[in-house]
Amino acid sequence: MPTKSLEGRSAIITGGARGIGAAIAEVLAARGCGTIIVDIDGDEAVATAARLAAQGLGVTARACDVTDPAQVADLAGATPRVDILVNNAAILDATPIDQLTRARFDQVQQINQNAALWVTRAMLPQLRASGRGRVLNIASIMGLRGSADSLPYSTAKGGLVNMTRALAVDLAPDGILVNCICPGFVDTRMAILPDGSGHEHETAWFREIYLKHGRIPLRRPAQPEEIARAAAFFCGDDCLYVTGQVLAVDGGLSATF
Ligand code: NDP
Repeated sequence: MPTKSLEGRSAIITGGARGIGAAIAEVLAARGCGTIIVDIDGDEAVATAARLAAQGLGVTARACDVTDPAQVADLAGATPRVDILVNNAAILDATPIDQLTRARFDQVQQINQNAALWVTRAMLPQLRASGRGRVLNIASIMGLRGSADSLPYSTAKGGLVNMTRALAVDLAPDGILVNCICPGFVDTRMAILPDGSGHEHETAWFREIYLKHGRIPLRRPAQPEEIARAAAFFCGDDCLYVTGQVLAVDGGLSATF
């Protein structure tokens, strides 16, 4: 049982209705943090919050599209206390360059990159008032490396990585620490193949390249909770003199070639 090291603190997790965001909500709440799951899918956010609350955790839900300035302003207005903000909401995109439209590229930047900035700015009064504010951005190893058919997603995640550093510099005078996690392959809905034909981690190519030949040195994808445990470090009091940093939680994938 984790200690209640985050007792009395309040967190917002965007995209927290499922996957990595839901796991982060669970891990922070288990440490005593009052946690608000924010998601464009309000029904799923409510269902996830109810599941966690039934375990005795302090989790509530709120529907919000993080790219909508009015909804973000409403969220900020309705949340008087925020000590921890986790910018986790994102969508996957795997459009080949020849099929890419300007509209699709811009949409992915709005959700996967720009929203992190605007949600953070909307929450600045609360984060400043906290005295121990924390912002954690969930990027991706695809923000650190190039891969096929990933231009919108990789561009946005790469921007989020360096936005983390710039925000850390700007917000350091307020005592707000800003860091970033880059997950590798994680077993969530995002690992379902875009055409719905199966699960990425079950494919022959994934097993051959990433598991059999050790492209992922730990030879398995991550579970969401394994990303959430790293998130708990950045959100808590074990992280006091770390800001503007980027941690790949990827089973060693980015350590090899
Ligand atoms: P999921 O798709 O399982 O969950 C993402 C959640 O974000 C969904 O509930 C989704 O709602 C929500 N969301 C999407 N757009 C918005 C929006 N505009 N406003 C509010 N909520 C929104 O993703 P994962 O848990 O797999 O990923 C979480 C984070 O981790 C993302 O940033 C992702 O890029 C990153 N990541 C994931 C990896 C993986 O292998 N899974 C690897 C590397 C990074 P809806 O269901 O309606 O779309």
